[in-house]
Order: sequence, then C-alpha cells, then structure tokens
Amino acid sequence: LVGSQRVDREVASVCPFCGVGCLVTYKVRDGKLVAVDGRDGPANGSRLCVKGRFGFDYAHHPHRLTKPLIRKSGVAKDGNVRRDPARWSEVFREASWDEALDFAAGKLRTLRDGHGPKALAGFGSAKGTNEEAYLFQKLVRTGFGSNNVDHCTRLCHASSVAALLEGVGSGAVSNQVNDIQHSELIIVIGSNPTSNHPVAATWMKNAARTGTKIVVADPRATEISRHAWRTLQFKADSDVALLNAMIHTIIQEGLANEEFIAQRASNYEALREGVARFSPEAMEGVCGIPAATIREVARAFATARSAMILWGMGVSQHVHGTDNARCLIALCAVAGQIGKPGSGLHPLRGQNNVQGASDAGLIPMMFPNYQRVDNHDAHAWFEQFWGTRLDAQPGYTVVEIMHKALAPQGDPHKVRGMYIAGENPAMSDPDLNHARAALAALEHLVVQDIFMTETAWLADVVLPATAWPEKTGTVTNTDRMLQLGRRAIAAPGEAKPDLWLIQQMARRMGLAWNYPGPDAGVAAVYEEMRQAQHAAIGGISWERLEREGSVTYPCLGEDDPGQPIVFVDRFPTPDGRVKLVPAGLVPADEQTDAAFPFVLITGRQLEHWHTGSMTRRSAVLDAIEPVATACLCGADIEALGLAPGQPIRVRSRRGEVELQVRRDDGTAPGSVFIPFAYAEAAANLLTNAALDPFGKIPEFKYCAVAIEGVAIA
Ligand code: SF4
Repeated sequence: LVGSQRVDREVASVCPFCGVGCLVTYKVRDGKLVAVDGRDGPANGSRLCVKGRFGFDYAHHPHRLTKPLIRKSGVAKDGNVRRDPARWSEVFREASWDEALDFAAGKLRTLRDGHGPKALAGFGSAKGTNEEAYLFQKLVRTGFGSNNVDHCTRLCHASSVAALLEGVGSGAVSNQVNDIQHSELIIVIGSNPTSNHPVAATWMKNAARTGTKIVVADPRATEISRHAWRTLQFKADSDVALLNAMIHTIIQEGLANEEFIAQRASNYEALREGVARFSPEAMEGVCGIPAATIREVARAFATARSAMILWGMGVSQHVHGTDNARCLIALCAVAGQIGKPGSGLHPLRGQNNVQGASDAGLIPMMFPNYQRVDNHDAHAWFEQFWGTRLDAQPGYTVVEIMHKALAPQGDPHKVRGMYIAGENPAMSDPDLNHARAALAALEHLVVQDIFMTETAWLADVVLPATAWPEKTGTVTNTDRMLQLGRRAIAAPGEAKPDLWLIQQMARRMGLAWNYPGPDAGVAAVYEEMRQAQHAAIGGISWERLEREGSVTYPCLGEDDPGQPIVFVDRFPTPDGRVKLVPAGLVPADEQTDAAFPFVLITGRQLEHWHTGSMTRRSAVLDAIEPVATACLCGADIEALGLAPGQPIRVRSRRGEVELQVRRDDGTAPGSVFIPFAYAEAAANLLTNAALDPFGKIPEFKYCAVAIEGVAIA
C-alpha cells in the first residue's frame, strides 16, 4: 500500500474489529497511519481481512471529537444527528476539561445522593481494553454503588455464556479456532464466518481442503457453505428441533459415548427423556431438514475421531438462545466430543474484546472472573479487595436499563443518569425508537466516544476519547488469548485516553484512585485486574505480555505456557461434570402473519462493523459497501414485483426503514436479511426487544416485517 514511500515507525498491535484477534503492524508516517500489515500472530499467521487491512483511516476522520462538549440549555434531545462538526454548535458548546468532567460526574453524584445508587447505570465497551473494562465496572460498583453495569455482550453471546456457565462451568471456548486442523468434522451453526470472522473462516477452508468435513447449519446459506460437506439450511427459529433430533439419533442408534457420560456428565437421564420425542422423522417438518440427512450428520458427528462445534449469533440471539446453546453442549457431551484435541465447543466471540470485557466483570451479575455478586464468598472477597461496601444484588442488563430509564417517577429503581463509554445503544439496541426515547429521557447522560454517534447526540456531556491505535492496553480474543495493543499515534486535539477519563470521573465521584505510570497507569490497572482474575490470568504479568505479546489462559504461573484446550480431565463445575440440560421448543416471540409476512434476520457484513461508527468512516470499506441493502431471494423479489437495486420499505410493528433490495439466493424464501451498520436505515428500528429469560439477550434474529417497493423519485 505504501510502496516505496517512507515509513517513520512500525508499531506492533492487534486488529480492533472482530474477536479473531489478528495481530497487526501499524505503519506510521508524519504521525499518521498509512498502512497496516498482518503480523505472524497465533490467531492469524500474518493473515488479515479487508477490515483489518484497510479499515484504519477512521482514526484520522475529520468527524473525530476533539473537544469536550456540553449540551446547550434548553436544546431538545432529538434523533436528528448532525454529523458535520460545523453543525454541532447548534446543540452543544465547547467546554474545558475541568468544566466538562466536573459537570459530567457532579450531576451523576447528585442523582446518586438524591435518588440512591440504582438511579445510575453504566455501559462500558467491548471495543475498549481489558483495563478500561475493569476500571469501568469498578467505578460503577464502588462509585455509583450498584451493579447496573453491562455492555454489548448482552446483545451477542449472553445466552451462550449463560448455558456454558451452567453446563461446563466456564463461559469461554474449550478449544481454539486453529484446533479445527485436528478435527475430523466441524459443525458451524448460526454463524457466517466469511463475513464476521473472516480470518477464522480461512482456517476452516484450509481444514476442508485437508479433509475435515464441514457441516454448515444456518437458515441462510452463506459463502462458507461452498466448502461444506453438508449444508443444513434449517427453518429460522427451529434450532432446538434440529439439534434435539441429532441428540435423539445418537442416543437411539447406540452411538452415545457411554463411558464419557458415566464418568464426566450429569443429568443424562433427564436429557434422554427430554429428546425422546424429537425423532428426526418427527422434526423434519419442523426444521425443514430431511430425517435421513439429520441422521447422517448426527452419525458422522458421533463417530468422528474428533469433532468441534463453532457457533455465532444465529444461535444466541433468540428468546431460546440459552436453550440453543444447551443443545450444543449436550450434543458434544453425549458424543464425548469435548476435552481433547479437535473436539469441543467454540462460541465465536464477536467484538475484539467481548471475551475480555466479560472476564473483567463488565456484566451486572458477575464480579471479575465470573464471580457472582450474590455469592457470599465472592462478595466478601471483592469488598475486602476494593476496600468498600458493595451491592449484593445483580444489576439490570442493557435492555432492562432502557426500560428502567422510562419507568414512572415513583419507581425506586428508575434509572435517571448514565455513563456510556464506547457503546452506541442508540444504534445497537433492539426497538430503537424505544431505546432512543429512553436515552433522551435520562436526566443526565455522559457519553465518552471518538465520534458523534447516535448515542452521543442524545448526551448532556460528550467526552472525546481515544481510538484503538492511540492507546496501549490488552484485549482478549475468542481463543482466550490475552494480547497487547500498543499506542502508534497521538490522539487528535484535546481527546484523552479512556483510562484517564474513567479515573477522572471516579475521582469526581469521590473515589481516591491512584494508578501511576505511563499511558494512564495501564500496567498498574492490569496488575490489579490480574489479582482479581488470578484463577485465569495469574501467570500473565505485564512484563510477560510486553515480552510475548500474546498468551493463552488459563495460565497459572510465569512458566505456564497457557492451556489451549480445557476440560481435559474435569469441568470447572461443582461436581466436576458437564451438566446436560434438556431443552423444549419455545417459539419466537413474534410470528409472521398476513400483515407482516416476512421473517427479518439482522446481522453484519464483511466490510462494516456493528453500528458502523468506525467502518462507515473508513474510505475503502465505505467505498465497497456504501449503501444499506436488504437481501431477498430471487423468487421473493419477483413475487413482490421488485428488481435488484430498487428502493424498498421494510416495516415492522415498531418502525420502518428504506433501503435497496439486493438479490441473495442464500436467503430463504419468506425471510429478509438486513445488516445493522447503516444509521440512515437502522435495522434495529424494526427488531423486537423480547428477551431470552436466562441470558437476557434480545431476539435480533427473528421478527415479523412487511416489504413494499418505493417509487424511485
Ligand atoms: Fe481484524 Fe477480525 Fe479481520 Fe482479523 S478477521 S483482520 S481480527 S476483522
């Protein structure tokens, strides 16, 4: 990319986009990023996808926030975001750092003192570092005084984590992506890895080439299907029917691993009874997959020498997301496909640091390292560790906090003030009209970000923060690898490091924090976090990270290389066994009908990341995918009297968007796929906020919509 042009410096870091965690080298000239190369990291082996290689110039975009902003008095909170900085003065005025921070924290303090700790809540970010996530949750717990802290894990794999903690005692993967080279068969379910975990997908394709059988199970046939041994394009919402039919087959045909079950599993009888009525013959009409195919795949999975399941948000984002993941755990366990090379469970984590942010305790029911806040011993340990009284009641989750922001005045748990650092719920939450109304209803909203996001536009105070290449800190990828990112460039204008901002807010909330050292004391924060997560990362010192750059946990000593495969001898459950939990059929919260006949499935696309705040401001990526599209199969396009490229309107019971129709014959008849990255056609205006009761994750993967053509102006 830079050819023979001069490069002043090369800085080793990590890609800021997805959970694969590719290592990168930033190339810097005259203080600006000019190119990114892949480094030979354990997750990527020098490979990068288009986002990692070309999606870096957002850091230099003219829309960066460079000065603290305070909302002008009397200006209403509307959703009409002015992206051009020249127009921000219509709503905000510039302020000094002292004035902005005093106002930001002072009003939160007033609300806490006047209405109690539950009046406040905070969203941290899976886009930030582990150190930021750790300090942010510590600020909410020790400064705000409640556990009302959450982040976007609630929107992606919260149900997977709920099932994994219940079943195997750990919310992380059992085997790393690269371990599929040892798998005879892998099942990729509810995942579009070519778009969402592109470098991980390259390892899958490599494995297929050397003989690994890939089974792709998804309501949408995506690019990875071209490499599949079998593709199961099951009916949306019928995951449990399909998976239970596979478990049924394995048990009924005598293929269950009786030795594994006897020695390492519990609750088997309940599972066996639970799946008894789910024969493939009974389920083929429910899930749309022929019984013979279900049996063939189940046999291949059970009899493979080694087999892994990798899954994405097609599994988790349902009101039965936890049940879906329970079935995956049971499927692996009845076949004995766990705890050995090439065999296990891998929820493909979405954000670059969603694993680490969850590990660090950025969730309302857990302290760091998944210690429950209502567990007496864990609660006592953290009270002693942080030297203060802590709330023992789990806090509210993302969507619950939005509901609480709109609660009546008399509700003692009404949320009145929020601090949101690096998340964009005004784009990422379901039923956006409701979420935006909730954010606008807050008496005080502090937003810390790098751009004027849809959420920042509703803020009372906006704190300009640092982009990933401007900071040093650790992130944890989907493989349980702790990796070190290093500061390559300076932040623009008066923007400040996120870690510094959190500490400034904490001091103004009355906390006497002191983390000395360069980069806002990141090494000191890390070392405190390491103590809080000693059982996982105790053997990974800051010096070791600086030396090695990437270390897998669990890692208990300085000479421990880390454990890439876990559950080899026992599960970290109370009895050391995997708990098998049967699941029944729970329908989607909202069904199609004559008025809303299509199923909406939302997700991502290769070039754009989540709410698009970074990638829509990246020149190459936005040039490749510049407009919002809705994917329909050719038959539906024709039946609706449309043509590819034509503008359409998609309506649900909650909102409507206009966008272009794109032909995609992998999208099943009767369904439509819309990426959620486009602010001008925000897919989440349509989605349903119904929650999985265990993981509290919204049902982004299923709601009812209507589609109609729009006349071209
Ligand atoms: Fe970045 Fe993920 Fe692409 Fe790797 S696969 S370059 S981590 S976006």
